[in-house]
Amino acid sequence: MILAGIYIHIPFCRQKCHYCNFHFAVSQRNKSLLIDAILLEIDLSKDYLDNRSIQTLYFGGGTPSLLKPSELESILQKIHSVYRIETGAEITLEANPDDIQPGYLNDLKELGINRLSLGVQSFDDDILQLLNRSHNAKDAIRSIQNIVDAGFDDFSIDLIFGMPGSDVDSWKKQLDQALEFPVPHFSFYNLTVEKRTALNHLVKTKQVILPEEEIMARQFSFTHSYMAEKGYEHYEISNYALPGRYARHNTAYWKGEPYLGIGPSAHSFNGISRQWNIANNGRYINSIQQGFLPFESEWLTPEDHYNEYLLTRMRTMWGCELDDIRNMGNVFERHFLNNIAPYLGDGRVIAQEGNFSLSLQGMLFADAITSGLFFHE
Ligand code: SF4
Repeated sequence: MILAGIYIHIPFCRQKCHYCNFHFAVSQRNKSLLIDAILLEIDLSKDYLDNRSIQTLYFGGGTPSLLKPSELESILQKIHSVYRIETGAEITLEANPDDIQPGYLNDLKELGINRLSLGVQSFDDDILQLLNRSHNAKDAIRSIQNIVDAGFDDFSIDLIFGMPGSDVDSWKKQLDQALEFPVPHFSFYNLTVEKRTALNHLVKTKQVILPEEEIMARQFSFTHSYMAEKGYEHYEISNYALPGRYARHNTAYWKGEPYLGIGPSAHSFNGISRQWNIANNGRYINSIQQGFLPFESEWLTPEDHYNEYLLTRMRTMWGCELDDIRNMGNVFERHFLNNIAPYLGDGRVIAQEGNFSLSLQGMLFADAITSGLFFHE
């Protein structure tokens, strides 16, 4: 039986981090109206997943830990009333360190939230300030300790490498600080400069100087070997887990399983089409209040299916299976084999019994390699 996931986007943040281009609002004026709209959307979109059972629920954002336990409870109750949730389903909440207090953690546990994804980003106060994060290093350390003390054994920590002024040694210190705790899962992202962000302005005006690309590549490669020494599997370009402790929600996404996205800007995929909600809180609320789901959608062509398969699978240690590509049609198999040859030749892709995955060197060029394999009419 094919299972499915549900993603709920909570579009509020305490303040705007300088590097962020996600959809959120700092004002929480519309919070209750938005939660009411989310509850309505869950009803309105109940047929999207075609009666599939839910194996993962994911509260992302924005900052879902800004929601009170009673607000989370109303959303969870609604989902339980509309969907069949599998026993042992993974229920994740993204949280910021400044929200993680013992009482709140106990409430989350009682609500059935069994996994946390903690946005630490850095243990360096100067960097946290530079990026306009709302917490400091002490908050971060205290929040991890609180999570461990509360008995959450499934949680993930986000850290960013490629920070201004960083090198391999300073990055190792960040990893060592996190590794003082029994963390089953990590996400490590490269600091990227997105258009229309404060960071973009700071970099352009040379108020912030990023490390050379070569230093970021060394930090990435160091992480790969250092985390392997510590027993972690590098199972997706940005993700590491102790054996078997993969993030089930994201893994299902990378493996092309269906999911429903609820809330402004959330994306959905049901195997044949993809849709995305309007990224505007006010217009989202108005539309839902009038009984209309505010989304745009597109049907996936065979080319889209092939490209999407590469885009998601090539990032993972499971790689691409030639059998899967062959099942999409001979034209795709031929295209794939013709275009992958140079990467096999220079060692950036490894082939093993019909499976193709990126080597460590290949991961550094993942986007270029994947787009080099795309099918364009
Ligand atoms: S807390 Fe997360 S979503 Fe909110 S502004 Fe910062 S990075 Fe963006």
